Amino acid sequence: MEPSIRTSAPSCRSADDPGISASHALLSPERLAELARELAPGTVARRRDFHRWPELSFQEVRTAGIVAGELRALGLEVQTGLARTGVMGTLRGGKPGPTLLVRADMDALPVDERNGHDFVSQVPGVMHACGHDAHAAMLLAAARILAGQREQLPGNVRFVFQPAEEGPGGAELMIEAGCLDHPTVDAVIGFHIWADLPIGIIGVRSGPLMASSDEVRLTITGRGGHGADPHLSVDAMLVAAHVLVGMQAIVSREIDPLIPAVITFGKAESGRGHNIIAHEAILSGTVRTFDEAVRKTMPQRIERLAEGIASAYGATCKIQYSPQYPVTVCDRQMCELVRRAARSVVKAEDVVEAEPTMGSEDIAYFLQERPGCYFLLGAANPDKGIDKPHHHPEFDIDEDALPIGVQIIVRSVLDFLAPSF
Ligand SMILES: [Zn+2]
Ligand SMILES: [Zn+2]
Repeated sequence: MEPSIRTSAPSCRSADDPGISASHALLSPERLAELARELAPGTVARRRDFHRWPELSFQEVRTAGIVAGELRALGLEVQTGLARTGVMGTLRGGKPGPTLLVRADMDALPVDERNGHDFVSQVPGVMHACGHDAHAAMLLAAARILAGQREQLPGNVRFVFQPAEEGPGGAELMIEAGCLDHPTVDAVIGFHIWADLPIGIIGVRSGPLMASSDEVRLTITGRGGHGADPHLSVDAMLVAAHVLVGMQAIVSREIDPLIPAVITFGKAESGRGHNIIAHEAILSGTVRTFDEAVRKTMPQRIERLAEGIASAYGATCKIQYSPQYPVTVCDRQMCELVRRAARSVVKAEDVVEAEPTMGSEDIAYFLQERPGCYFLLGAANPDKGIDKPHHHPEFDIDEDALPIGVQIIVRSVLDFLAPSF
């Protein structure tokens, strides 16, 4: 499937015409498409360079250096070393107005790349398998276009390149480092290149889009002993098995079935030998929901059930609950703004309602602080063999998505700063 970039935008209308936005007067859709196309080879080259030299969470030193250098060259105010390796660039428009923050992430994953293209990862065991290379490259291109409009811009744009989205999370630290202040940020836009959507399709959803994600660890302590003498022991492994089964009742019996929630224990550690009764068992899992109120109840629910089951068998259970990313909730008005912007780039019918996912994203922290929209940029293309999911060792994107993403970012910024709808 080819990207359906709209080329026949309305023309011959002035900004006074209520049918056209002030932002279109700043930069027409045709001119924006032209700029994105002109920049596309550079955007692709930048993405491939990042792809060749991927860096794990909080180690994005090379990437951050390149980003900071490019932002400085554009004349932006640049701060580095935020949240260790984060970068922030501020573009102050020539006219007063609000401030919009646009966020990209920069980190790669501990994945051994198995692609055969000529920009394959040069770092063994590390790969841009989620597309954050594309995010950083697109935001740099958007910054370049917007910097060219500086004098006419009625407001400011803050470009945030955050570390460690893949964990343990850089967004919260970037906020603590002050990236919502000076000037005060009014709203936020984030985006993700998306393997579940074909190229040319843009997904937007107001309300909860991605789940919260917390980590839980249950340590069950029994009394070890000889496998031949169960009556003299408390078998922690057996207790863990009952706890594991018991946990399944929380989502199925205690949570409103209309609210999505998941408890998955993906790791169990116990036992030293086939004839030794385990003294201890550790269960590690992930807890996800779409509702912050439900999320708050989860530690108590898990603790009550796990402790109760353990004590029924004469064992004890300690819970360690580590909150991670909150629910990603998009603002209705900001989503409408991004939808409108996307419709000026692709066909109206290609701007679709994004499917919610139980995956999680630390953009959620930004969206807790400010109204915002996180949109999904389709980049799959089965005809070109680009059909692998995120985090797969053969994950790839159709790079024709890059200029589409750049245009949507720029148009969203312009529409936010210069609205006339
Ligand atoms: Zn990822
Ligand atoms: Zn990602």
